Amino acid sequence: MENLISLVNKIQRACTALGDHGEATALPTLWDSLPSIAVVGGQSSGKSSVLESVVGKDFLPRGSGIVTRRPLVLQLHKIDEGSREYAEFLHLPRKRFTDFAAVRREIQDETDRETGRTKQISSVPIHLSIYSPNVVNLTLIDLPGLTKVAVEGQPDSIVQDIENMVRSYIEKPNCIILAISPANQDLATSDAIKISREVDPTGERTLGVLTKIDLMDKGTDAADGSKYKVLNAATDGNCQHAILEGKSYRLKFPWVGVVNRSQADINKNVDMIAARHREREYFASTPEYKHLAHRMGSEHLAKMLSNHLEVVIKSKIPGIQSLVNKTIAELESELSRLGKPIAADAGGKMYSIMEICRLFDQIYKEHLDGVRSGGDKIYNVFDNQLPAALKRLQFDKQLSMENIRKLITEADGYQPHLIAPEQGYRRLIESSVVSIRGPAEAAVDAFQNLGALHGSQLADTCLFIIQVHALLKELVHKAISETIELKQYPALRVEVSDAAIESLERMKQASKKATLQLVDMECSYLTVDFFRKLPQDVDKGGNPTHSIFDRYNDSYLRRIGSTVLSYVNMVCASLRNSIPKSIVYCQVREAKRSLLDHFFTELGKLEQKQLSSLLNEDPAVMERRTALAKRLELYRSAQAEIDAVAWSK
Ligand code: GDP
Ligand code: MG
Repeated sequence: MENLISLVNKIQRACTALGDHGEATALPTLWDSLPSIAVVGGQSSGKSSVLESVVGKDFLPRGSGIVTRRPLVLQLHKIDEGSREYAEFLHLPRKRFTDFAAVRREIQDETDRETGRTKQISSVPIHLSIYSPNVVNLTLIDLPGLTKVAVEGQPDSIVQDIENMVRSYIEKPNCIILAISPANQDLATSDAIKISREVDPTGERTLGVLTKIDLMDKGTDAADGSKYKVLNAATDGNCQHAILEGKSYRLKFPWVGVVNRSQADINKNVDMIAARHREREYFASTPEYKHLAHRMGSEHLAKMLSNHLEVVIKSKIPGIQSLVNKTIAELESELSRLGKPIAADAGGKMYSIMEICRLFDQIYKEHLDGVRSGGDKIYNVFDNQLPAALKRLQFDKQLSMENIRKLITEADGYQPHLIAPEQGYRRLIESSVVSIRGPAEAAVDAFQNLGALHGSQLADTCLFIIQVHALLKELVHKAISETIELKQYPALRVEVSDAAIESLERMKQASKKATLQLVDMECSYLTVDFFRKLPQDVDKGGNPTHSIFDRYNDSYLRRIGSTVLSYVNMVCASLRNSIPKSIVYCQVREAKRSLLDHFFTELGKLEQKQLSSLLNEDPAVMERRTALAKRLELYRSAQAEIDAVAWSK
């Protein structure tokens, strides 16, 4: 069982080395799940004295005011009898301290290193390990003493800051609270009791310690020079006695009374071992405590703490083990989501970029091919919107009686036609079909003016090019955001996205050209079959009229108009089939084939420096990756430590 405490000791040291102090950060904390004992109490309540008597060594800084300004994680390791005792700091690995006065100085210096000489406090702990035959395996955390007023040079917030720090330690359910109260003060005013009651109202994880028992029955005359007001033993003494007997201020565990060295003892350099001796004698010989002597004193306190800590650790190990396993899995999956760090050389960089682009391209294709959503919307445009728009086309102006008469007559030239108005037909058809063309062109170029063009029948034709273009663009944005690898490199993300949009723009222009070509083709060669099938015109309607410009009657012209309209409708029907083909050919198929081709050509021309800047990562991501990797290392080492202990059992 003994190695359970050293197991937790090791993991705690790993926590501090790898930056896990149990603070609220965006990282999981292992520190919080480890059982620990934190010492709390008001200033001068005797915290340092208790720690020192538990260790049996003088090693803590002393002085008035707030001496402890950083948590001190004190790990005690029992070594073989006769071995030389020594101390070690985590921040000074491989330096063994055998002079405990030097330990004290190092604690002071290390406190100042973190907080400056400003008398500020810091929650970054100092780790001190003491190896000695005279200790039990134990970890204790010394916290700054609770205080009511700031001293000179300290910010007013210090009172609250200390309380917050203490609370942040002891409110964790895995923290065992060693609550220190001086026996020569009214317990109702004890800082230790007050704060531990807040965080542990049932007293389940609070161990109560009464210090300065010796100052209670000396009357008001503090003969040892203690600066403390000594309470009337007859009244308050009974009260504290009742506490030790378990009759009042009950906690789940019995209170322990201790007698530490007084200030006078310290001044006289009374040896710790001698002090322990005296303490034992005190309890054995004082009538009020005789019957309690077996569970009083620092030695008993140390053993009790050690046993208790072991029991608690044992009960928590399975939970810690499964937490560690779960967290490792979570950390690994987040790390893999953040992606690997990048190669340093140009070739490796180029390879990474190409690889990421390939992934993006793949996702983009999957959208078009229906593996992912969005491509179906393109078909929607062809299937619903294109036919509807072609239907909306109106040729009223071109096929008005007036226009028909004008074009037919003009086409005759100096001689009216004999059989059919061949030229006139051609001109009428051309003017109708061409009317699809003009504004259509404008519509492609002026996407911004779409509102203005909308509704004009002719713009509708080329609207599809734009609609398809917009859909293709939307899929670029989708695919960009779905390419996890691009998240890592904001600069590359922008470049790839821009390059893809530019390609789509070029394809849109090509598509416009092709579609207009289709319309032009319809004008340049008319379907002869259509006209051959028409009943031959016998009546040309060429009755004598009043004017040579008015040589054909209305019903004749109307017939021509309706023939032209049905021919133009046939043209529209064939465009309905050919426009989607042209759009798919120029835009969709091309996007699938060569969306990033141009980008790749440009990429080949880049210098190593420019390649690097494309792979510049978001600093936040880089930081996060480093932090996660460090935390993962911690959890993995904890896992190995726990497994080793579990196997050795
Ligand atoms: P901390 O501020 O809580 O760490 O308190 P210290 O351990 O520095 O103790 C404050 C003062 O009380 C020192 O002068 C100690 O010598 C004295 N003191 C602590 N415990 C006892 C005790 O049990 N008996 C006597 N007589 N003095 C004590
Ligand atoms: Mg102290």
